[in-house]
Amino acid sequence: MKEKIIEVINLKKQFGKNLILDDINFTINEGEAVSLIGPSGSGKSTVLRCIADLETLTGGKILIEGHNLQDKGIDKKIKKELLLKTGMIFQNFNLFPHMTVKDNIVKTLRIVKKTDVKKAEEIAEKVLETVGLADKKDNFPNELSGGQKQRVAIARALANNPEILLSDEATSALDPRTTNSILDLLKDINKRFGITIILITHQMEVIRKICNKTAIMSDGKIVEEGTVKDIFMHPKTQLAKEFVSNISHESFESEEKEEVKERSGGKIRLKLKFNEEQADKPYIAEIIKRYDAEINILGGSIDKLSNTVVGNLTIEISAEEEKIKTIVKWLEKN
Ligand code: ADP
Ligand code: MG
Repeated sequence: MKEKIIEVINLKKQFGKNLILDDINFTINEGEAVSLIGPSGSGKSTVLRCIADLETLTGGKILIEGHNLQDKGIDKKIKKELLLKTGMIFQNFNLFPHMTVKDNIVKTLRIVKKTDVKKAEEIAEKVLETVGLADKKDNFPNELSGGQKQRVAIARALANNPEILLSDEATSALDPRTTNSILDLLKDINKRFGITIILITHQMEVIRKICNKTAIMSDGKIVEEGTVKDIFMHPKTQLAKEFVSNISHESFESEEKEEVKERSGGKIRLKLKFNEEQADKPYIAEIIKRYDAEINILGGSIDKLSNTVVGNLTIEISAEEEKIKTIVKWLEKN
């Protein structure tokens, strides 16, 4: 059983009189990769900033490994250790422009952990190797591409040996190919070092590639949450449907609407959804064999979510009305 690493309990945050976060609750277990999505201004960054102890909470609490960071009586040393467990990366990288790549990391270790220079240099070289930038250690940030700068920022976060990595739109400024390579790196970090990741993104690609859970925020509240697969297969709120439709080739509509798109004399068009297990089974061949129907495949796609496959297939069946009903029943059952 995995341990809870972050618990957000009845979190409220006001800026002045404005209620920005309104009773946020969620729990994240060690090693999970969770995404936070939602429209701009819905409060995503504020949630991360609260977790990183960069904001004072108006109400509720946040526990990191069971410790309440905001607890006034918390031992200073414990608090510092807990804060060091969290690293953060941003869209704009936040590197020191006047320092080399290596010095960016060394300096941070010196400031944050008072690591001695030799040890800090050793760590810097190791983390740069992890992110694939060993050969850029003596370059300055402005000599690097956006993707490379983000790798430096990730290396710097890793240098503190964090257990949690918070990523606030870290790939939003990158082109799709670079985004992919950064995502592969984050996924590798999550798997290889077991680092828990919470990431904010508006790119469905990001969620699909690395996350196992997603929460959708709107207006300071979490309006829907679940496994990535659940949200992709059965989005409940309108907002979730809109996000999901960004990724599917055809928008996901409600179950009933999806099942029967068009029914006209002797022909029916169906959109079928598959999970990983079903994707391996020869349903189409089975229908043809069982019911002697004519089937046209009009289109389809398979999306690989973090660890599962979901697919959809649009088919057109031509047969007598009665037979079509039987086939639809059989499909529903299966
Ligand atoms: P998101 O990351 O989802 O776009 P944010 O968490 O950045 O949203 O912001 C949520 C709301 O809180 C916005 O209305 C924003 O204007 C407000 N806000 C964020 N930070 C501050 C601040 N320091 N002072 C006042 N208002 C803020
Ligand atoms: Mg934000």
